Amino acid sequence: MTEIPFSVKIWGARGTLASQSKETIGYGENTACVEVFCGDESIIFDAGTGLRSVGDKIIKDIIKGDKAGKKRKKINLFFTHCHYDHISGLPFFAPFYDPNTEVDIWSGHLTGPDKTRKMVVDYMSSPFFPVGPEVFSAKITYKDFEPRDVLRPLKGITIRTCSLNHHDECVGYRIEFDNRSICYITDTTHIVDQPDEGLIEFIHDSDLMIYDGTYTDAEFPQFWNFGHSTWEEGVRLAKAAGVKRYCIFHHRPSRDDKSLDAIGKACKKEFARSYVAREGMKIKV
Ligand SMILES: [Zn+2]
Ligand SMILES: [Zn+2]
Repeated sequence: MTEIPFSVKIWGARGTLASQSKETIGYGENTACVEVFCGDESIIFDAGTGLRSVGDKIIKDIIKGDKAGKKRKKINLFFTHCHYDHISGLPFFAPFYDPNTEVDIWSGHLTGPDKTRKMVVDYMSSPFFPVGPEVFSAKITYKDFEPRDVLRPLKGITIRTCSLNHHDECVGYRIEFDNRSICYITDTTHIVDQPDEGLIEFIHDSDLMIYDGTYTDAEFPQFWNFGHSTWEEGVRLAKAAGVKRYCIFHHRPSRDDKSLDAIGKACKKEFARSYVAREGMKIKV
């Protein structure tokens, strides 16, 4: 029996700040945004600057008007958290300006009532942004959840959630579809020599883990309180949890193509089925 396609596309692999230079262009300039394809459906995670390109692709698909294009009119967008590198693409998402589109926006990292709607309204407000979300013509539904909730946004897709170790809270996701799973674990830190047992359990046996590899172990002592982790810690977690494929994500804006190539090579020696996230890359599981 053939397996139903299940994959992830990287639309933005950078953390912290978009990076545009000829030294970094190979891995891409845009900040955190990934799209997970589950058969005919897709789910977007994070609204970094990479979100703009996803929106443009969705509009193109809708204009085509085929069966796949029709599916694109119903969009699910999940936030890990709302640091700028995960939200600054939001107002530039073209489907928000299409009255025939429906977008469900999900978040679980904040507290209080009406938190997802409030997050968007607060982000798009004076004096930081010229217009509020009332300019959107799509049908927007704001959906709140708590970390550890199990969500079923679409038929056949289960999304497990957990709380990560990051300033201002952050949610980790495990997307389960057709007996396989993809984990999106970005913006989390670790304690040296103390494996995060809760996270190991969460990512256990996953077919792919995308992980916050902002730093190297050598850099970590200088940045231990910035809320991020190292690509080597990702390898240790992936091995401890029996993860099948590992993708280093959330690259520092200063990390040029040459150093990311070197990290990829070093990582392959430790973990054969590993990848360094690159804008436009698709990983099938
Ligand atoms: Zn980030
Ligand atoms: Zn963050």
